[in-house]
Amino acid sequence: MKEGISFDDVLLEPQYSDISSRKEIVLKNNLTIDNINIPFKLPVISSPMDTVTETQMALSLASQGGLGIVHRYNTIEEQCNIVKFAHPYGVVGAAIGITGDYHERAFELVKSGAEVLCLDVAHGHHKMVKEALTKLKKEFSFVHIMAGNVATLRAFDDLADWGADSIRCGIGGGSICTTRIQTGHGKPTLQTILECSKSDRDVKLIADGGIKNSGDIVKALAAGADFVMLGSLLAGTDEAPGETIIQKGVKYKVYRGMASKEAQFDWRGRTSSLEGVASVVPYKGSVANILGDLEKGIRSGLSYSGARTLEEFQSKAILTTQTPAGQFESSAHIGAVR
Ligand code: IMP
Repeated sequence: MKEGISFDDVLLEPQYSDISSRKEIVLKNNLTIDNINIPFKLPVISSPMDTVTETQMALSLASQGGLGIVHRYNTIEEQCNIVKFAHPYGVVGAAIGITGDYHERAFELVKSGAEVLCLDVAHGHHKMVKEALTKLKKEFSFVHIMAGNVATLRAFDDLADWGADSIRCGIGGGSICTTRIQTGHGKPTLQTILECSKSDRDVKLIADGGIKNSGDIVKALAAGADFVMLGSLLAGTDEAPGETIIQKGVKYKVYRGMASKEAQFDWRGRTSSLEGVASVVPYKGSVANILGDLEKGIRSGLSYSGARTLEEFQSKAILTTQTPAGQFESSAHIGAVR
């Protein structure tokens, strides 16, 4: 039987450091297509979900050196308007499917200024993804194509060979995801990253699903991810779509899986396989604050490993597993009863 370790099963070994300030650490990274560079100041991408990325989130991520992927659960016109608006502020990405209007959508999105197209499919290692990806890559060779999601090295290599420039890695790990319960399939996200990062293809790896805090981001980067994709960590902010709800004096916002009953009804008027849930998350204020806190955690993380750049960090990082007693010790446990 194969082993599958997740974020909480591991820690990074602290190493000798000569870094005197977190400012010395550079978190730059880039997405490339041929010789075009899409620069990042922070390796963070927002999920293409209707409670995460529309205009405000895309603008905020673009202005802070990350990337927003505008979700596809809208009309082509609505999605293109978001992309057009966000584009003068920086790089913007947009999701498409692999059936229905996907080709026309891709064409219009590229015309509207999307530099990144994201083939947003729950099980990306699929014949239909191969067909769509090959076709789109031929037609839009000048656009960065992100595809996914995958859970195995074989899938990662196949998507790379079919034309993906970056690949979302992680199946069933999302905080609002019930894929593993409904279907019995999936793989812990950290294990997926460890496996996919063994690929010799020149394609960027995006860790997607189950990232709960900056510590998980640091572990994902250590395991070989070039970028992280965040849903729940960015949901509940001012920039996330949706109204603020007040329950018993506390502010919340809705955060829901795109395969939840609620999302499917809203966008398709019917449901098929339910692989997600709808929930509320506490209101968190501005995305700039959240990203600021995450950035501080990531910088500290690199400094504990004595690394000044992401590249250096990946070559030096030492992951160790921890026991359940270690996990208990790893969280604040003052006064906790075991
Ligand atoms: P989170 O950051 O743990 O909240 O996970 C966000 C990720 O969950 C997204 O980027 C998607 O890959 C995935 N996702 C979004 N909606 C669903 C769903 O309904 N079911 C399963 N996975 C989902």
